[in-house]
Amino acid sequence: MFCKYCGKEVPDNAAFCTECGKPLGEPAPQPTAPTVNARELGITSRSIVTAILLTIVTCGIYGLYWFVVLTNEMNKLSGKEQDMSGGMALLLSLVTCGIYTIFWAYKMGEKRDIVTGESASSNVVYLVITLFGFGIIVYALAQDAINKAVERQ
Ligand SMILES: [Zn+2]
Repeated sequence: MFCKYCGKEVPDNAAFCTECGKPLGEPAPQPTAPTVNARELGITSRSIVTAILLTIVTCGIYGLYWFVVLTNEMNKLSGKEQDMSGGMALLLSLVTCGIYTIFWAYKMGEKRDIVTGESASSNVVYLVITLFGFGIIVYALAQDAINKAVERQ
């Protein structure tokens, strides 16, 4: 190819002209906005059916573990790692006899919309589901959002 500044012939893959030293070729690609990579964060998808079955079989004990990992994974994926950890959220839920889970569900809905990039008012949806006592549906929906985030990458 030829230098577009001085017209001298230069090697095709040269980054700079050997004659005048001006930069050649394509401009450097703009750095893209940092995207959260679920795999880099160590997050893998989880079967919703298996998790629900495990929760039933263990009389809810697996559900406590699921609650903790869901919270931590959702915090990471939504970039809100400074938010309350899953362990603390579980403790608060137990101390408040489950009242805290209503607030938790609301926050999970907010994060779900951040992770999926949808404005689906999931916070209100999750809150209502929890008020009706179907918290496990919130777990499943949150897990679904996490699984989709993992699949995207
Ligand atoms: Zn040149």
